[in-house]
Amino acid sequence: MVEILEDTERRLMVNIPQDLSNDDFSRYLIDRMHQLEERNHLIREQNHKIVAEKRYAESQKLKFERELRTIKSELEKLKTTPLIVGTIVEVLENGKLVVRSSTGPQFVVGLSQFIKESELEPGTQVAMNQQTLAVISVLPTSRSHLVRGVEVIESLDVEYSDIGGLEDQIRELREAVELPLTRPELFTRIGIDPPKGVMLYGPPGTGKTMLAKAVSHQTSATFLRLVGSELVQKYIGEGARMVRELFKLAKDKAPSIIFIDELDSIGAKRYDGATAGDREVQRTLMQLLAEMDGFNPRGDVRLLAATNRLDILDPALLRPGRFDRFIEVTPPNNEARVQILKIHTRNMNLSKDVDFNYLAKLTEGTSGSGLKAIATEAGMFAIRNEKDCVEVDDLINAIKKVVGEKDSSSSVSENMFA
Ligand code: ATP
Repeated sequence: MVEILEDTERRLMVNIPQDLSNDDFSRYLIDRMHQLEERNHLIREQNHKIVAEKRYAESQKLKFERELRTIKSELEKLKTTPLIVGTIVEVLENGKLVVRSSTGPQFVVGLSQFIKESELEPGTQVAMNQQTLAVISVLPTSRSHLVRGVEVIESLDVEYSDIGGLEDQIRELREAVELPLTRPELFTRIGIDPPKGVMLYGPPGTGKTMLAKAVSHQTSATFLRLVGSELVQKYIGEGARMVRELFKLAKDKAPSIIFIDELDSIGAKRYDGATAGDREVQRTLMQLLAEMDGFNPRGDVRLLAATNRLDILDPALLRPGRFDRFIEVTPPNNEARVQILKIHTRNMNLSKDVDFNYLAKLTEGTSGSGLKAIATEAGMFAIRNEKDCVEVDDLINAIKKVVGEKDSSSSVSENMFA
């Protein structure tokens, strides 16, 4: 017994009371075992917790190391010297390139061995080392650069039914733009070429852009809209390049409709004694003429342009074979104003007693965009007065505001509402 006791004491590292009976001793041992099991359980739990914490700390360490690497590489990027942008002028046989830097002069330079020969084409933009001007990389196609100025819309939601009072114009546009895209065989059968370009002209806000968008929606063509003034660039040759790229982009995205708004900003009559800036605009116009000459009238790219000033356009643009279909977009007459007002108020909660004929009479001389502004203003008046629907007096107030703003000097509108 004494030996067992001593052995147990040694194993458990405790002092066991000596004067225990056998039964007490077994009870004591069982108690002690329970205690130790509990303790063991506790230690195991602690161990699990520490292992989990260790794993978390390791994953945090990895995360911070990754962040550190990103920040370091970002820092490196920020510290690197900038590259110069240039354009390849010629690829020489000895493997060198003639490039024009963005500042103007041309240089013969070497290039990185990682650049593929197939990527080297005159006109391609490249990045060059500042000191040696060696070509380091080829920049993505310059079209991405142009796209900044071009609004590329793959799908539009303007429909013919959203346009009021321009039925004749819509019919002409459908013949000149929609049919060549949707039923080219008609033109082949008769043996004529559809018009190369269609010019929409008329006062501002009469729906020229809307017409172009609607025809594009109807034909599911990509709509490429460019405002003419975007083509007036700072550097020589930039505008012409943009015109080239615009036509290339249209071909890539075909079927597509190119819509040049405010064409008069590059298409005004040329005259002698122009300044350097004027000559650059003329170069851009010449590029547009050249693109139109090389343009396949039966292809699936259609060209539309809009202007408020047909009278100042260069005759070269207007001769047959270039823009040869002219569609005049006139300010809305009484009937058209009724339709446009109905279109712009169709989603509004309108009072039943609104008489559109009366409103159309009050808005004589107002353009489509003016009528849209009237509808919106009327809604604003109704909101301001916390009404549930737009009433006649809201529309009258809106007409006073919009027409009055436009024509504040004349007393006609005053008399009209008196
Ligand atoms: P600009 O010559 O100034 O570019 P635009 O003739 O191209 O003007 P749009 O941009 O087509 O005019 O029209 C401006 C807005 O006026 C349109 O968004 C539309 O809400 C409204 N609008 C103009 N004309 C009509 C119309 N005939 N029917 C319905 N809404 C019209």
